[in-house]
Amino acid sequence: MLSDLNWKRSNVRGEAQCSRCSRTLLAGQNSIQIDRSRVCIKCWDEVRADPTKSVKEYKLEFRIGNGSPTRRSSSNGRSGGSRRPAPSLQPTLSTYDAALLVGNALDRAVSGGSAQLFPAGDLPFFEPGFDNLVIGRAGVTVVGSKAYSSAVQIEAPVSWSSTSIPTNVLSNGRNMRALVELAIEQRTALEALIAAAKFKFEVPVAAALCFESVVGIDRTPVRDSMGVRIDTVENIAAFATRRGPVFDKEIEPVVDYLRQLAEAPLKPLAATPEPPSPGHPPASD
Ligand SMILES: [Zn+2]
Repeated sequence: MLSDLNWKRSNVRGEAQCSRCSRTLLAGQNSIQIDRSRVCIKCWDEVRADPTKSVKEYKLEFRIGNGSPTRRSSSNGRSGGSRRPAPSLQPTLSTYDAALLVGNALDRAVSGGSAQLFPAGDLPFFEPGFDNLVIGRAGVTVVGSKAYSSAVQIEAPVSWSSTSIPTNVLSNGRNMRALVELAIEQRTALEALIAAAKFKFEVPVAAALCFESVVGIDRTPVRDSMGVRIDTVENIAAFATRRGPVFDKEIEPVVDYLRQLAEAPLKPLAATPEPPSPGHPPASD
């Protein structure tokens, strides 16, 4: 994993060369030092785009020490003491506790304003860890709290303004991109429900993921991956309750609609329920 690689960001002191592309690195230029070699930022971004590679694979790609582990004790032997112990990958809060904590924070954020908090638990697309919807002037935002208590680091591997290349959402070196994909699924399902309601006003739909702490590394101040907002709960609350095209009086009809769906999720949308036709047993296959 990337976190196992002995790397640091450092400016070049004297002139040096990128070990991968042989580009000249001038004194003072930003570069990445790996062991005693240097690589340019471009190569670094290209190679680290997949943070799941082993140290050996990284070194091969960076052309450092011909990829063979030199003077490294085997993993079952005594370690040289240079490797930091791997921090726990598990969030410290359960999905349930994180949802409560985030729900409470959102609740405080909407109190006194026009926005409303809605529990997603009974909606047809509900996924544990995406327990809260905020309905406000900016529309409907589904807020994820899954893995909330893992600190995350956000990296954009290639182009950080891209909407098609997902950023890396790293927690202790593990990529949590799957979580972003889950949030996108939630947003898509919510969009379909809102579209089916045929409101006569625009209701934007957004998805957000809350974390206890979020850091973007230097030149990538990314707080967004594939349109999914990633931030602390305070910032997500501000995001979900920001100004938007929805008027205050239009918020209640959206909440009502979602409430109806939550109470009778199987009922056809906005249609009179048909009585079950007699004489036809339910189809089975
Ligand atoms: Zn290079």
